[in-house]
Amino acid sequence: MSESPLLEVRNLRKYFPAESSVFSRKGSPIKAVEDVSFTLDAREALGVVGESGCGKSTMGRSVLRLIEPTSGTVMFKGQDFTKAAGPELRRMRADMQIIFQDPYASLNPRMTVGEIISEPLEIKKRYKTKDETRERVLKVMEVVGLNPKYYNRYPHEFSGGQRQRIGIARAIVLGPSLVVCDEPVSALDVSIQSQVLNLLRQLQSSMGIAYIFISHSLSVIKHISDRVMVMYLGSVMEAAGKDELFASPSHPYTRALLSAIPLPERHSKDKHQRIILQGDLPSPADPPSGCVFHTRCYMAEDICSREVPELRDIGNGHLAACHFCDRCKAFGGDRS
Ligand code: SF4
Repeated sequence: MSESPLLEVRNLRKYFPAESSVFSRKGSPIKAVEDVSFTLDAREALGVVGESGCGKSTMGRSVLRLIEPTSGTVMFKGQDFTKAAGPELRRMRADMQIIFQDPYASLNPRMTVGEIISEPLEIKKRYKTKDETRERVLKVMEVVGLNPKYYNRYPHEFSGGQRQRIGIARAIVLGPSLVVCDEPVSALDVSIQSQVLNLLRQLQSSMGIAYIFISHSLSVIKHISDRVMVMYLGSVMEAAGKDELFASPSHPYTRALLSAIPLPERHSKDKHQRIILQGDLPSPADPPSGCVFHTRCYMAEDICSREVPELRDIGNGHLAACHFCDRCKAFGGDRS
């Protein structure tokens, strides 16, 4: 019998009320996340990729209830997190953490590194004495590659990569089962990115952490993920194991994203010209009818503007939402 997943997200929606201004009347809500479902096993890394504004960060924050979802269910370790309240909510929250994109903005400049990392331990009253707390913080600093002698230094005294290590230390100090990583390396130099990705991978296996890893970059996603979910305008376009997705991208949007990454990092089958998507991302306040991608899709046909394609299993748990994904799959990632 298979174990139940660590996290099970069902039909998650996050709508924001439309802004009214002197130029416009209050209109339709902004559908930032539209009917997103997925599961995540313990110790698994799910990469979530899509252009800026596709709803991936809002989805990650809704899962953690940093913003309350409009509807849907988040089951965590078999318990309904969306209904949790009081002490139960606080206990579950300690087990689900987040690492933000901008380590500098997310660290309090008036607190020392030691204070920043020990704060979650103190809020949760994890240890009885200051010495025990300090010992745990020093241990975690070592684990993330920060010299413990920097305990009393302030965030501005560190480089971007080191600051992100402080953010990671704060996120893991309580020993969480799940960490949402929201573009954790996109503010860092490329040379530093791989060091931070390696650290996250290391923590995944040594501490048994599962990740929802959010990034606009498929190159980054490729280095950290076990499975990949591609989002566009709040909806899931495709989801599959990493190797399967890179070898046989079956949604036109995924194929366009893949075509933008440098050739050596692509799968050998996927060697054709770059696909340049025309036009801008439509407004989530007024998403296109039918397939939300149809206004930019190079494979669109009449049916695409009329009928919403179902996210369906096209084989071995590979999911794709396209009326013609079998056609793409048949090409085996080769955009000829
Ligand atoms: Fe393109 Fe149509 Fe497939 Fe949507 S359903 S991705 S518009 S071919």
